[in-house]
Amino acid sequence: MNKGELFKKIPKVDELLENSIIIEQMEAYPRVTILEAIRKELDKLREIIKQADSEFEKIDTYIASLPNKIAYEIVKANESHLKRVINATGTIVHTNLGRSLLAESAVKKVAEVAQGYSNLEYNLEAGKRGSRYSHVEELLGKITGAESAIVVNNNASAVMLILSTLSKNKEAIVSRGELVEIGGSFRVPAVMEQSGAKLVDVGTTNKTHPEDYIEAINEETGVLLKVHTSNYRIMGFTESVGLDELVKIGREHNVPVVEDIGSGVLIDLSKYGLEHEPTVQESIEAGIEILSFSGDKLLGGPQAGIIVGKKEYIDKMKKNPLTRAIRIDKFTIAALEETLKLYLDEEVAINSIPTIKMATMGIQKLEEKSNELFKLITELDIAAKIEIVDQVSQIGGGAMPMSELPTKAIEIRPENMNVALLEKRLRNYKNPIITRVYKNTLLLDVRTISESEYKIVVEALGTVFKKESSYE
Ligand SMILES: *Cc1c(COP(=O)(O)O)cnc(C)c1O
Repeated sequence: MNKGELFKKIPKVDELLENSIIIEQMEAYPRVTILEAIRKELDKLREIIKQADSEFEKIDTYIASLPNKIAYEIVKANESHLKRVINATGTIVHTNLGRSLLAESAVKKVAEVAQGYSNLEYNLEAGKRGSRYSHVEELLGKITGAESAIVVNNNASAVMLILSTLSKNKEAIVSRGELVEIGGSFRVPAVMEQSGAKLVDVGTTNKTHPEDYIEAINEETGVLLKVHTSNYRIMGFTESVGLDELVKIGREHNVPVVEDIGSGVLIDLSKYGLEHEPTVQESIEAGIEILSFSGDKLLGGPQAGIIVGKKEYIDKMKKNPLTRAIRIDKFTIAALEETLKLYLDEEVAINSIPTIKMATMGIQKLEEKSNELFKLITELDIAAKIEIVDQVSQIGGGAMPMSELPTKAIEIRPENMNVALLEKRLRNYKNPIITRVYKNTLLLDVRTISESEYKIVVEALGTVFKKESSYE
């Protein structure tokens, strides 16, 4: 056989469209997808023939299997781009993997509101137009102790709205030690600039004193801003001005104090063996005027930026045209209301909000979970050394950066495959599994894998170990 013969063997598009395997696909998928897959596979084939200078028989076999290859391509092309994945990294609020999972009641509510009409902006009692913010305002007040609340797209936009409303063309005084960058695209100075506030940084990187704020206050001052330095800590010779003190300075000079607290913790998690993270309630009790936080970090709800505080300021924000541009949608409101309702009983919150549940999961439970997964994986009889090991999980999302939560992980040391290939195959599995590679072993942290996902993990391992391990 020679190249010329191979080129002649390339089937025409019309021929392929009459192949039984392809006809079967036509019942399930749009014609454009099918034509695209055919063209893509034919291009690939032409390229293979062009490049080849031996082993023409192999290419002949390849041509024979073309309809199957096209069918596979069609199925792949039709897969959703956004997929559910299994998080085996142990990082709970994993920004790349969608941060918080919703509680069951929140998921149900979102589906309900998605399928039917709702009173999103309709006051059922009065029979006239209502406010979308009304659905969560009262609950937020009850839980945090704040006078009033508004919820926007995310915490970055919340900070922007606060500054744009209270400090546009005015000076916002912030400690130099708090001019932080949080996860790539949120930089405090940049957000301040966008909002139209004039940044005035006081103090030094490691130390800021009360006088630093006091000396900077003048008639141009809009707010005193405090930013929780979520994802980093300065250790050693440091000093910052506490909330109580800052609130006192603000009152004395008639300047509102606003805080970006980041993670939005509503329960004192130190009771459950975690590092103390400042709670929203503590800031409200300290008398802070306005406070903002994320809905999908440690709060464990949907992506949102929650602003709570004094009514006179929140009312101004509601009138700011920016609010319309960053407003939340009905799905967020549905999920947030249900999540917040769970907080009315702390025990319920701990047990039913996935983020909090995973963060407070005790070592005994983790041991049970790891034993169960270990048993299932060893039953597979794969070519690997498998062990249960002590490891550490992280909260993630910029919360509690210094906390290392003791956890249990399944450690897999493949015998005939390098660990990077194993990691890649699991990541590219039809239900992607995101794992951690550590010192030539693959780790599955059971903290962030739910028991209902075990079956998929085991199936995936069985499949990827069965594949030939030569090249990919
Ligand atoms: C995470 C974080 C933000 C950004 O919040 P998003 O909800 O992601 O917009 C802003 N400030 C602080 C202190 C944070 O930790």
